[in-house]
Amino acid sequence: MPSRTLAATASLSIGTLLLLFTTAQPVLAQAMSTLEIAEAIHEYRVEREQRIVQDFAELLSFPNVATNLDDMDANAEHIMGLLDERGFSTRVLQAGGAPYVYAEMMTPGAEETLLIYAHFDGQPVQVENWAYPPFQPTLLDAPLQDGGQAIDIASVTGAFDPEWRIYARSAGDDKMPVIAMIHVIDALRANGIGLSVNLKLLLDGEEERGSPTLGQVIDDNPGLLDADLLLFCDGPMHQSRRAQLVFGVRGGRTLDITTYGANRPLHSGHYGNWAPNPIMQMAYLLTSMRDETGRILIDGYYDNVATLSESERAAIAAMPSIEEQLKDELAVHTPEGAGTRIEELVTLPAFNARGIAGGGVGNQGRNIILTETTVSLNLRLVPNQQPDRIRRIIEEHIEGEGYYIVHEDPTDEILRNHAKVVKLDWRGGGSSGLRTSMDGEMAQRLIALMQEMTPDLILTPTMGGGLPLNAFADRMETPIIVLPLANHDNNQHGENENLRLQNLWDAMAVYGVVLARFGQP
Ligand SMILES: [Zn+2]
Repeated sequence: MPSRTLAATASLSIGTLLLLFTTAQPVLAQAMSTLEIAEAIHEYRVEREQRIVQDFAELLSFPNVATNLDDMDANAEHIMGLLDERGFSTRVLQAGGAPYVYAEMMTPGAEETLLIYAHFDGQPVQVENWAYPPFQPTLLDAPLQDGGQAIDIASVTGAFDPEWRIYARSAGDDKMPVIAMIHVIDALRANGIGLSVNLKLLLDGEEERGSPTLGQVIDDNPGLLDADLLLFCDGPMHQSRRAQLVFGVRGGRTLDITTYGANRPLHSGHYGNWAPNPIMQMAYLLTSMRDETGRILIDGYYDNVATLSESERAAIAAMPSIEEQLKDELAVHTPEGAGTRIEELVTLPAFNARGIAGGGVGNQGRNIILTETTVSLNLRLVPNQQPDRIRRIIEEHIEGEGYYIVHEDPTDEILRNHAKVVKLDWRGGGSSGLRTSMDGEMAQRLIALMQEMTPDLILTPTMGGGLPLNAFADRMETPIIVLPLANHDNNQHGENENLRLQNLWDAMAVYGVVLARFGQP
């Protein structure tokens, strides 16, 4: 919780900054190179690491499970205070769910507008699994699993080791962008470096619940979020720790399939070979839809899958291979995918069986033939794969395997009248994947700018998972690029979530350079 001392120190440092700002003559950013800007931010930061880490710890001390609206309001209020102090104009946007914080800073003469998205809610916590309480942020001098010991932030004199990590819910996912942003605004001002773009921030208070009201928030505020580029700052960086831009995500659909035997469990001795066996039917049905390498066998499934552009192929080829590291770390001898590397496989649809229920095993096993078996499928979709079409071709395939399809539990009458019956429970409407072209003007400009700072920038055509980008993509033409900032091993969603300090420092440098230079090609 915010303490009086922290607040007092904060207002003092802001006062000093405003003084600096009014006395220093703003420098035209094009007079400074990207590296000079990064260096200026670095020098500003090394003098203030304690203040920055304290501000981060304070923000992380607000509990932030999105279902608790009072907590989310307190988070939003605190964040708006931090942004107001920097001269952002802020407001809460709400459409029946948790609060979203909107903030903008207009730049006289700027021609382009950058919209940055991050979220300040977090996954629920099971306190007993955490080494330190999730809402009492704790700085450790090494990763927990390497025996890291707690350090009192206030007692640190001198530089903070960039390998130190702060442990708390949402340290990695996804409160850090707020702290990086406010301090980089301070750093630019202190150096008299002006912004080259209009800056808009949208901070989501319900991302971990799937941002249920984000679409409505956008619809309720026509034009408010208009921008030339949306930078989506969420998710972990590449395991190599190299800077990274991600241009797409996969969508998905969920389907539970149930196959049926007789209407009551039967003795497997008396009825074996006679009674239809739902587990065996399910096994045959699944293998008719997908082969051992992960290739989906349903007619037309790949018809609309966008092929990779030349830039996307080149980007994948230039990525550091993580195959051997993954195989070793995860104890996998032969991955699926028939030898295709993971970065390309995630540009394809995936057919994942996420659970299977029916009967018992071990001591729970009984010698019976079951009445039913259910498998839950989690289908990952890619750009151009319309969820409605996917439903249609899957149902056609299942019919082609001789099944009569129902969407409710079948009656005895239905079971008597059809050789094979299957229940399909489509859970939610699903979403298609998204991929922004790397060849567009905004993408090219961002790539070039970041390469000036980090020549070994990784360009990822798509990440394997999903992000709530559809709410934007369905309503706006703005190109969307994901800029991940957290360390890959931040334990997001789990216990002992953490952020490595170097990732916070790097985020400040990236934000600073982009804000100062993006609008001035
Ligand atoms: Zn997140």
